[in-house]
Amino acid sequence: MHANPYLFFNNLKFSKLQIQIPLTSHLKGHHYDGFFHGQEAGNRSPTSGRSHGQPVEMPLMGKLLLAGTGHAHLSIIQSIPDLIARGHEVTAISPGERHFYSSMGPGMLGGIYKSEEISFPVREMVERRGGTFIRNKVVSIEAENRSVTLESGEKLFYDVLSCNLGSTIPRNIITKGSAGVFPVKPIENLFSARQFIIARAARQKVNVGICGGGPAAVEIAGNALAAGMERGGRGCRVQIFTQGHLLQTLPEKVRRLAETRLKKRGVEIFQGNIVQSIDTRLIRLKNGKAYAQDIIFLATGVHPPTIFADSNLDVGKDGALLVNRYLRTPRYPEIFGGGDCIWFTPRPLKKVGVYPVRQNPILRHNLLAKLERKPMQPFDPGGAYLVGLNLGGGYGIINKSFLTIGGRTAFFIKDRIDRKFMRKFRS
Ligand SMILES: Cc1cc2nc3c(=O)[nH]c(=O)nc-3n(C[C@H](O)[C@H](O)[C@H](O)COP(=O)(O)OP(=O)(O)OC[C@H]3O[C@@H](n4cnc5c(N)ncnc54)[C@H](O)[C@@H]3O)c2cc1C
Repeated sequence: MHANPYLFFNNLKFSKLQIQIPLTSHLKGHHYDGFFHGQEAGNRSPTSGRSHGQPVEMPLMGKLLLAGTGHAHLSIIQSIPDLIARGHEVTAISPGERHFYSSMGPGMLGGIYKSEEISFPVREMVERRGGTFIRNKVVSIEAENRSVTLESGEKLFYDVLSCNLGSTIPRNIITKGSAGVFPVKPIENLFSARQFIIARAARQKVNVGICGGGPAAVEIAGNALAAGMERGGRGCRVQIFTQGHLLQTLPEKVRRLAETRLKKRGVEIFQGNIVQSIDTRLIRLKNGKAYAQDIIFLATGVHPPTIFADSNLDVGKDGALLVNRYLRTPRYPEIFGGGDCIWFTPRPLKKVGVYPVRQNPILRHNLLAKLERKPMQPFDPGGAYLVGLNLGGGYGIINKSFLTIGGRTAFFIKDRIDRKFMRKFRS
């Protein structure tokens, strides 16, 4: 992770000031850039119920809205007390009160971690620091009005908006109404899948089908095997169906280690097989064959949400929010983003958790800089990052550049890094 280059503007202390300003024309039309919220575009702020010509209490503040409480927003959430001390307001919106750290998700499936150990209590983290948490989903962004609409129909206004909405697994191959299918995102699904496997394994061997051949598929396979053996369970028969080769974007040595380990534990790997459709307990391939399962995991790659394109914002090739090197949208400089949901124009980034983690200090700096009209910092995605795979049963693989290690030591290192991350941001 990058060193934290965040600059505190300690010399500036913004607090709510009682200033008497008649709302005359010299204020109107002046671009305050979010400083005096509610003034540029009419009465946007719920606190700004003032009438023309009346003395007003005008707080020197900006309204920061965090859409999603994913990995890229953890630092800004930690900074809420500082933002409030400067006179700003922070509201976070998320459909869940906890945010799950994906890297440890497969370990939760395999029984290594409890769900509380791998998730951030985001509601509590926001509210304890003085922010407002709204449990809901953002369904559209009205950039011209500086507002977002929630699933509940409520509209919220902002001066600065930051989007960290993650990505989803496309479900188009799932036949409507199919049961027993678990997309690997959101990570919470892995908890339900674990319960399912343990309950079924108590009675019989569980047939587990995994669609996809990337890191998530490999980790799910190893950890499903572990879950099936828990509490005297009868175990699992695991089949992986992948369009290309297993782990085809990772180095050859990682591929070999993973394949050897999984095959040794009885996992069947069907490479070069396209899954055409998923029904209740059935995976159908394009070649006409079908495989019966008790539980099916969908790990076929992620896609950003369609909300940005639907809201007429500029998007990249994959439909993600287009941002420049400052992690902000060029057309609407008060809209920022991080994580899987952005298209970083200087160079497209892989949808891996490493980038939102690295974006934390820059996003925090730039959001505050935008609120206070200070210079922005560019985001440098950095070089090679460590890939860590948890194959269950205490076996891991780690890789960075030319170095690859497989075995218990590799799992130990990955586990240490992940726990450290949780400690750092959960505080
Ligand atoms: C099983 C698995 C294992 C993985 N392991 C690793 C790993 O070891 N290392 C690695 O680098 N990457 C890993 N990844 C990839 C990693 O999950 C993603 O790159 C990472 O989660 C992206 O972080 P994010 O904050 O952008 O999105 P997310 O983690 O998806 O967070 C987005 C947040 O936004 C919220 N949200 C979504 N929609 C809305 C909405 N409409 N309104 C409000 N809030 C919303 C969600 O509830 C969520 O809390 C793994 C992925 C999977 C599936």
